Amino acid sequence: MSGTPRRCLELQNSSTHIAKAVEILCEGGLVALPSETVYGLGADATSEVAVRKIFAAKQRPAGHPLIIHVADIETARTFSNDFNEVAETLGSTFWPGPLTLLVKRSTKVIDEITGGRETVALRVPAHKTFRTVLTAFSQNGSGAIAAPSANLYGSVSPTTAQHVLSDMGNLIDAVLDGGHCVVGIESTIVDCTVDPPVILRQGAVTLELINAALKPIGVAAAEEFNGDSRAPGMKISHYAPRAVVKLFENMESLSTYAKQCDVSAIPYVSITGNADRDLYARELYSLIRDADGLHPQEILVLLPESIDIGVAIRDRLFKAAAPH
Ligand code: AMP
Ligand code: MG
Repeated sequence: MSGTPRRCLELQNSSTHIAKAVEILCEGGLVALPSETVYGLGADATSEVAVRKIFAAKQRPAGHPLIIHVADIETARTFSNDFNEVAETLGSTFWPGPLTLLVKRSTKVIDEITGGRETVALRVPAHKTFRTVLTAFSQNGSGAIAAPSANLYGSVSPTTAQHVLSDMGNLIDAVLDGGHCVVGIESTIVDCTVDPPVILRQGAVTLELINAALKPIGVAAAEEFNGDSRAPGMKISHYAPRAVVKLFENMESLSTYAKQCDVSAIPYVSITGNADRDLYARELYSLIRDADGLHPQEILVLLPESIDIGVAIRDRLFKAAAPH
């Protein structure tokens, strides 16, 4: 890698290009893949060498565990030696989809994935292109893809192929363009190894949906993350743009603050989101990236209500606003 930028292949959503993406994965390379949540930086989850490349490209600290993506629940079971009743219920209810399950690992899982932990995070994604890649990779390779968000550690997650190219274009082998991610924020993570199970990260699969599926056991409400080692890698400052992010609960307080700003430069850009919270989630990272691209000192953001996916949007925004 001695300083020469490598050429990143820009692959389109065609069978020839998907075959090329699978070939790169089989050779231990890095391919950014579209998913319904955000673009993932994919590599063969069973190859130590390939997984180490993810950490190097993202500049992610070693020991922060990665999610393994597989084609179906049957394959997921093989990566766990205790795929328990809670995991079975949640997997069969929400997969394929934006839900990650933390379960006890099997011997198939390498230490590079879990950072040496006895648990592993598994997901069956719903994005059609990702699923086609997984099916082909099951036939020609391991069928297990490690894929954290395809951005540099701590920065804003990518929801388009263009975002990936602008962040990591010279660090990866290819990006497969599957359009704009439809959910737009990272998967919900549920720890199934504890009783009751706990939501470690909020996402589109909400507390209410999980509780309905897990009747009568239920799930413990999401933890407040402040460096808790139960979900390592979710540090307080995350998803952060260059500008300072300031958050507002209502339009009135945002406008009052904006009026006081010095308008001689570009002091702020405001993001007021969308009353349709699903749409707000879908556009969130694009809005933050576009705002940051104008090089303001501050980005003023209107928080959504803490209802359904609004809970997850607020979580990401609080992390984007944390000092870094
Ligand atoms: P991402 O970087 O969005 O793919 O999310 C990965 C996150 O999943 C990590 O930062 C952890 O918080 C969580 N995670 C993955 N594997 C484990 C594990 N074995 N134990 C605890 N948390 C995990
Ligand atoms: Mg990430």
